[in-house]
Amino acid sequence: MAILPHAGTLKALPCRRLTETERTPMHLRHDSREHGTRGRRRRALVLLPLILALLVSTCRAAPDASPAGEERAAGAPAAATGPPAPGSPSRSGAPAVSPLVVFLDPGHGGPEFGTAGVTLDGTLLLEKDVTLAIALRTAARLRAAGITVVLSRTSDELPGLTAADRAPGGQGLTPEGVLRDLQRRVDRANASGASLLLSIHLNSFVDPSAGGTETYYDASRPFAASSRRLARLVQREVVEALHAVDYPAQDRGVFTEAELHTPGLGVLPAYRHLVLLGPEVPGRLRPSGMPGVLNEVLFLSNPAEASAVQRPEVQDAIAGAYTRAILEYLAQPGSWTESRTQR
Ligand SMILES: [Zn+2]
Repeated sequence: MAILPHAGTLKALPCRRLTETERTPMHLRHDSREHGTRGRRRRALVLLPLILALLVSTCRAAPDASPAGEERAAGAPAAATGPPAPGSPSRSGAPAVSPLVVFLDPGHGGPEFGTAGVTLDGTLLLEKDVTLAIALRTAARLRAAGITVVLSRTSDELPGLTAADRAPGGQGLTPEGVLRDLQRRVDRANASGASLLLSIHLNSFVDPSAGGTETYYDASRPFAASSRRLARLVQREVVEALHAVDYPAQDRGVFTEAELHTPGLGVLPAYRHLVLLGPEVPGRLRPSGMPGVLNEVLFLSNPAEASAVQRPEVQDAIAGAYTRAILEYLAQPGSWTESRTQR
């Protein structure tokens, strides 16, 4: 997401590593075993009643007091009491994890718009708007399936943002402001009791012909095996869904933080992880406490992909893909319990 207006904050944002991955030939990074075949979507739908019965029977005390179907705004009540002091354990005061709670993170927001693109008909598209639209559609689908969804934001705002977080001039955030924003998202995920975290982004690259879908997880975390499984499901379902709506998205594959090739977070130069998914930095960063993935849906820098992702039916297809991936992930026994014990 290398666009000039964002240069000051880019180093801290999850979409920044495309430069290196794009240079790597796809066949060197692509593990065909990770990717699905036709028919799995139908299988997931068939399994849905069984999944829900299992989830309800195994969890009688969802920690989120919000009823399923009711949107709990980011920051409430978790943010109402403020985040824990820096360096304090993330599990301090956190509710027990429930498979009935999922945390969705629409990337960017407010003065921090992420990357930007122009559609084939010349419409300017901001990453923050697309990620929110997809997240809200996903939340609706998950709630219809009986899952409680907590979002890091539900509007074009960054909950908890302070004047000190904003870059001079009001556009974008300072590097420290970016870190604080990401930390607030992590804190809310932990406070929600969610069994998994899905962060939604769109990619960007200087070559407008670059395109496709990719998913990241952090292999250094104690629940990496679960994150990897979720990442593979998300990647498979999103690519299949895009193909099903006649957008031939390239399957770029699933990657770990080791493949980010990032220069490090601006204010944490030695940190080679995505803040939403990565490990603790004592005194500076409290980590997320559950399996998680970051999906880069498509490239906004590619006009054809910007045009595709702008279409409501494509956004809905992506939301359906996320929902299927999450439900299939939750259906496997043990996929969520480890996040309760390995924070
Ligand atoms: Zn992004």
